[in-house]
Amino acid sequence: MDKISCNLCNSNRYTKVYDIKNSDTKETFNLVKCSDCRLIYINPQPSHEELSKYYFRDEYYSYGEVLKEDQGRLNFIEKIKRVFRKRIFLTYGVNNRSVFQKFKQILFYPFKRRFGGIPAFLKNGKILDIGCGDGLFISQLKSIGWHVCGIEIDQEAVKRAQNHGFEVYRGRFEDFDFKDERYDVARLWHVLEHFKDPYFNLKKIYGILKPGGRVILGVPNMNSLYSKIFKQNWTGLDVPRHLYHFSPQTIKEILKQSGFSEIKISYNSVGTGLASLVYVMNRKIKNEALVNLVFNNVVFRFVSIFVDALLDMFRVGGCLEVRAMKE
Ligand SMILES: [Zn+2]
Repeated sequence: MDKISCNLCNSNRYTKVYDIKNSDTKETFNLVKCSDCRLIYINPQPSHEELSKYYFRDEYYSYGEVLKEDQGRLNFIEKIKRVFRKRIFLTYGVNNRSVFQKFKQILFYPFKRRFGGIPAFLKNGKILDIGCGDGLFISQLKSIGWHVCGIEIDQEAVKRAQNHGFEVYRGRFEDFDFKDERYDVARLWHVLEHFKDPYFNLKKIYGILKPGGRVILGVPNMNSLYSKIFKQNWTGLDVPRHLYHFSPQTIKEILKQSGFSEIKISYNSVGTGLASLVYVMNRKIKNEALVNLVFNNVVFRFVSIFVDALLDMFRVGGCLEVRAMKE
């Protein structure tokens, strides 16, 4: 564990937010808030080696769909989901301003929110998906005409993506040498909060984008209503895998300092409310099967999608979807 200074403003002044126990290993981590720029982060921070034991577990890498497809085990619902998802990508990722297209966008809107970070389509556009898993997202982008490339740290996920013919490299983004390769879009969907040095990596992303290129980020929203209700039990904290916790203000500031402009924030909750509720109930009732039975039913799922959408509308949703441009 290393004591660090603030990644955004380099200050060493902070106040304690919470002590949080990891539910598997029972280790405690300190969450602190920078007194100068208000960035929230784990301090002291575990090393890459210490962190690795929190990652390489089957339950963390839930890249189930591509694996199931490889084994011919996709069920009927999953097959339908796949077709449906392509329709969503085609509806939102294509520059077509016809009335019919607009109608489809309204129709698909509640479902689109489940697939965050879809870039606006660019002919011959090149996208880098950082932390791409086994390539489910880039496979959808490829199917609508993008040139896709990914980076992923998990060996098994990389192998599966490569078996599907995707250009996916294994390694840490910070160590990767891109030479003269330049991209129109870099996407980091729930990745930035895992980096040891998000500021360094954002500057590096700025460097590998073409002029006019965009970065698309998804991060948990530290200022969300769920974060305030569930406090240290909010699943968006996910200690110690999430090393940094951004608010709309701190994500804007770190992007500005990395050189980006035209920063736009929208809200895209992905069920951290329901997950936190299940987590708290499990701890109180101590009957996991019963709690899962109650919360996994269709009615609860439907209510949670509705509540998430409502919170996003009032800009207090569980996750931030951020887009910014390199001039
Ligand atoms: Zn700071």
